[in-house]
Amino acid sequence: THTVTEHFSEQLSLRARALLHGLGADVPEPGVLLARTPISGGVLLPLTPDTTADVDAAIGRAAGAFESWRAVPAPVRAALVRRLSALLVAHQDELAELVTLEAGKIGAEALGEVQEMIDVCEFAIGLSRQLYGATMPSERPGHRLMETWHPLGVVGVISAFNFPVAVWAWNTAIALVCGDTVVWKPSETTPLTALACHTLLRRAALEVGADPQVHQLVQGDATVGEALVDDPRVALLSATGSVRMGGIVAPRVAARFGRCLLELGGNNAAIVAPSADLELAVRGIVFAAAGTAGQRCTTLRRLIVQGSIADQLVERLSSAYNQLPVGNPLDDGVLVGPLINERAYTAMQAALLRAQDEGGEIVCGGERVELIGSEAYYVRPALVRMPAQTELVREETFAPILYVLTYDDLDEAIALNNGVTQGLSSAIFTLDQREAEQFIAGSDCGIANVNIGTSGAEIGGAFGGEKNTGGGRESGSDSWKAYMRRATNTINYSTELPLAQGIHFG
Ligand code: NAD
Repeated sequence: THTVTEHFSEQLSLRARALLHGLGADVPEPGVLLARTPISGGVLLPLTPDTTADVDAAIGRAAGAFESWRAVPAPVRAALVRRLSALLVAHQDELAELVTLEAGKIGAEALGEVQEMIDVCEFAIGLSRQLYGATMPSERPGHRLMETWHPLGVVGVISAFNFPVAVWAWNTAIALVCGDTVVWKPSETTPLTALACHTLLRRAALEVGADPQVHQLVQGDATVGEALVDDPRVALLSATGSVRMGGIVAPRVAARFGRCLLELGGNNAAIVAPSADLELAVRGIVFAAAGTAGQRCTTLRRLIVQGSIADQLVERLSSAYNQLPVGNPLDDGVLVGPLINERAYTAMQAALLRAQDEGGEIVCGGERVELIGSEAYYVRPALVRMPAQTELVREETFAPILYVLTYDDLDEAIALNNGVTQGLSSAIFTLDQREAEQFIAGSDCGIANVNIGTSGAEIGGAFGGEKNTGGGRESGSDSWKAYMRRATNTINYSTELPLAQGIHFG
């Protein structure tokens, strides 16, 4: 007998096939890699994972393509990204729906993720004419000293489930205009969106007459990722995911003197000062803490509130939390979709039990809402008051739990903000300019915001974090420099051969 949930899962699977078809992707060979949907927990499609031999061959093709791609002028390379951008615009709805099916994001956030891809493509197109090197005054007459930037080689991209398409675009659009070729290992949890992106880029390459081998897709779990990590032909490994993963990957890349760009876990805090506009703060906090069901690297996980306003703020937050619509992300009006899988749910429940052991009080939320069968994990976002920044609070639990701590003076609040091993995003809500500036100078994170939450960065800035978050920067500003190598050039246009530092030789 067919349950309602099984029937629903079959409909979702058919929808995924239709979307792939609309995006021009062939339905993959069935195999042991199961693309699932967190909406019902059902299987969307089975795929065949790549073997380490497949990864080896893919790196070989990318390395081969690099030899000619590096010689294409950067503004000409941008034509490929421009075409990709146009295809993303044309297929924005389909790709976003696939993101919703595979990662469980609500429609607005899934569309926003594809918008981010389009935005970074535009950024990369402009960048293709701005890969500037500096020119410095030489200390010698008749000499010029300058820097030139050159393509690096094959870039390996390992990405996480929670931004299944945007992180790829951040890396790929910029790597391509920089003259690199790309081998992408997406999360094994989101292989279909990856297939869709790969198909669109291939199509763009064929349409503009670029070599389609500039991009390779390899699918599978950590084993497939490790084949990329250890290959000396991969000049830069850009890895997004947990601190645990980065801890394994970084030393291995370093051992072969490769380059790493790490975008790892966060444990982001917001300080709420007495002068804060509480109405605005509540909205910022709820989006940052409960949006994407707490599954963003920049999700707000710690709220550091000045003691005199703590009760009032917690009460307002709790009433906002109680009104959050949790449910099927395909439905209009839903703001909180499912957790990615059972493991995420188990980790959340374990954290909530531990919080109580450590003296915490669950103000609201945390419970499971069984909406669509027993294999989908919907939860109400949790608000938890903690007596101190305990060991648990210092860990990243990838689920919607917001721990509330209190402080007396701003120095203490900044010390709490910095008192964790991660260093991704941070924020302060205050109308006091001194406090805002002290916070910006004092936060040890890669992102420090004022009167806005910790999540939802724009692509124009450099994105990334310090400490265990890995130190990498992606997307805007001068992040492109990670994807190129710098040469320092001294040019002698005189008839003499003066040596630097005034040295006379012979
Ligand atoms: P994860 O670490 O489990 O997996 C991330 C990717 O790494 C996957 O593709 C996985 O297959 C691969 N991987 C895992 N072990 C590997 C190994 N030993 N060698 C090579 N590859 C390996 O993370 P996840 O659960 O997919 O994503 C959630 C985590 O990612 C959170 O910690 C979150 O904060 C972090 N994240 C960080 C950023 C950022 O920009 N800083 C962005 C998104 C997610």
